[in-house]
Amino acid sequence: MPHRQAPTLCFPDRHKSCFACCPPIRPAAYEHIQHQNIIQRELRDNTREFAARGPAVAPIRGFSCWALGYLDRRRRLVGCLLHPAQNDGRDLRYRVDYGEKCRRESCPASKTFLRLDERGRRYWLGLANGLDAFAYSSRVHNPLFGLLGWGPDVLRGVFREADRPILCREAFFREFPFFSTRSDPAAHAYLLRGIAERSGYAIFRSGRFRQVFEEFAEQVVGESRRMSNTAPGGVFTHRLSMDEYFLDFARLSVGLRRTDPKHAEFLKRIVDRAIEKFNSGFRI
Ligand code: SF4
Repeated sequence: MPHRQAPTLCFPDRHKSCFACCPPIRPAAYEHIQHQNIIQRELRDNTREFAARGPAVAPIRGFSCWALGYLDRRRRLVGCLLHPAQNDGRDLRYRVDYGEKCRRESCPASKTFLRLDERGRRYWLGLANGLDAFAYSSRVHNPLFGLLGWGPDVLRGVFREADRPILCREAFFREFPFFSTRSDPAAHAYLLRGIAERSGYAIFRSGRFRQVFEEFAEQVVGESRRMSNTAPGGVFTHRLSMDEYFLDFARLSVGLRRTDPKHAEFLKRIVDRAIEKFNSGFRI
């Protein structure tokens, strides 16, 4: 969840910042928190030396960017010292060789978060209570990264359904045991949303629903794979003009990196029928 898209000083709020994707090219499973001591030293050096640097473009070296530093005196917030929010609106990221990439990209979790309204954002940030910038920027330590994969509709529905703010992670998972599921959110969000929209968001309070959903998802994915030709050909699935969550399902669950629009429509009909059948039979 990058800080650099945010119009305000820090993202997601004044108390937390995310620097998970700085710099934007790293090994897939890399986490800053695994190298916290070294990075904290780098952040101190970067922040101290920043003011003395001239305007010349200087490249990012390895996995560390010289423009990543502390944004506050208490060294709680970590972020980009070249970001417009730090420089009276002037975007200075051209001073690193990844400047365009830094400006252009944001992670799926941050895009989903920005689609929630102010109250929804505050609610979900409760899951990250007590996390410092390193833990907040970690997919392993920050449960929001995974949960945002269920998409804005599911997240809005849970927020409406919730009885209370999220005071701690444990309380949230007690209230909504479904979310301890091992199902990959991005791959299964289409199925879950289809069920929750018809059966209601109270379904997530049921401990039994988690297992029922996992079995249902396995069946639907299995059937979809049997009905699909995953040989290369056709257009990239994510470029089709269809429901974005269905396209994620087709790509990530079924394995269709490319397909043709007719097959995608055919597959969607099969999946929609399965969801309908599930909704007509399942009772909490
Ligand atoms: S220039 Fe800023 S946004 Fe880009 S990698 Fe460096 S710290 Fe991150």
